[in-house]
Amino acid sequence: MKFLEYEAKKVFGEYGIPVPKSALIRSPDEVSACLDGFDSAVVLKAQVDVGGRGKAGGIVMAEKSDAVKAAEDLFSREIRGVPVSEVLVEERLAIAHEYYLSITIDRSGKHPVILFAEAGGVDIESAAEERPEAVRKALVSPLLNEVPQFLIRDLIRGAPVEIGGVINRLYHVFCDRDALLAEINPLVITPAGVYAADAKLIIDDNALRRQGISVNRDLTDREREAEKHGFSYVELDGDIGVIGNGAGLTMSTLDLIDYHGGSAANFLDVGGGAGRERVMHAVRLVAGMPSVKVIIVNLLGGITLCDEVAQGIIDAGVPQQVIVRLAGTNEEAGRRILAGRDYLMVASMEEAVRAGVEAVQ
Ligand code: GDP
Ligand code: MN
Repeated sequence: MKFLEYEAKKVFGEYGIPVPKSALIRSPDEVSACLDGFDSAVVLKAQVDVGGRGKAGGIVMAEKSDAVKAAEDLFSREIRGVPVSEVLVEERLAIAHEYYLSITIDRSGKHPVILFAEAGGVDIESAAEERPEAVRKALVSPLLNEVPQFLIRDLIRGAPVEIGGVINRLYHVFCDRDALLAEINPLVITPAGVYAADAKLIIDDNALRRQGISVNRDLTDREREAEKHGFSYVELDGDIGVIGNGAGLTMSTLDLIDYHGGSAANFLDVGGGAGRERVMHAVRLVAGMPSVKVIIVNLLGGITLCDEVAQGIIDAGVPQQVIVRLAGTNEEAGRRILAGRDYLMVASMEEAVRAGVEAVQ
């Protein structure tokens, strides 16, 4: 789950990373009251979860005298289609230099990796593409709870030594908060020292409960519903709904759809031993996506019973055509239950996919 900038800065601040003085406002009327707390000019920052926020107009510099007008303007805007409902008012930093710092997981190496670049800021992506050598990288053993000094020295080289402390603190945030990404871009040098001018924190969804987060707000209503039932569920862009059991079988179904020129609307693995009710919920969930024109149910009966599956499909009673491929335990009973009704029963996955692709054409 992604934290917004102000939430991430709150966490970073708790770990001793210097962050600018700030106030969060939810309406332009609240600007005047918070201005007294700032000595200098301010920066108004839309709290929206979009990349390239600054370039899209989400960061506005203002003097105290024109801050109200600037806030009214910012609240009335949409940043890459996202309305602005919260704005972080911050003291403006006198930035002498912008660095890039992030910690993420190197999945193939199975350890955290720290990235540091001398030239951070809004153009970091193109800078990293043009000069990949400018981004320094350090792999940290997951057994360590401090970043070794030699790694820090190698990362920062000629950059101010205070950055070393920030790297270590960000690493503590990363480990303690079960993060997938902790990023400061830009990490800035000012006459008053080093500051995190921006902050990004993404928590591993699998660790939300441990982190005391009960609702994953990044999920759509349907994804939340799927989580409740324990389905592995991902929404995609196509129009063919897919329900399978086992990640392998479900993925193969998606691959085959793609191979035949179709486009899947989702991935849904109901898991092993799904009974009548579970299947009903799965079919209804997929049918609930407005984009779904046809649904392929591709289930292999092992501990899953095909007659239970058939009942579940009927219980769901969805308007879209359902193409069913059932094989394995109680297959015959399943077929009998569905026979004579409005379902297309097929014998193989290949057939199911062909029929699905044809149906949407
Ligand atoms: P992003 O576009 O979402 O990454 O927004 P950032 O918070 O990183 O801000 C974008 C850019 O605005 C930064 O790279 C800085 O150049 C500039 N900026 C942000 N805060 C300040 C500030 O306090 N003072 C100054 N001078 N520039 C700032
Ligand atoms: Mn940024």
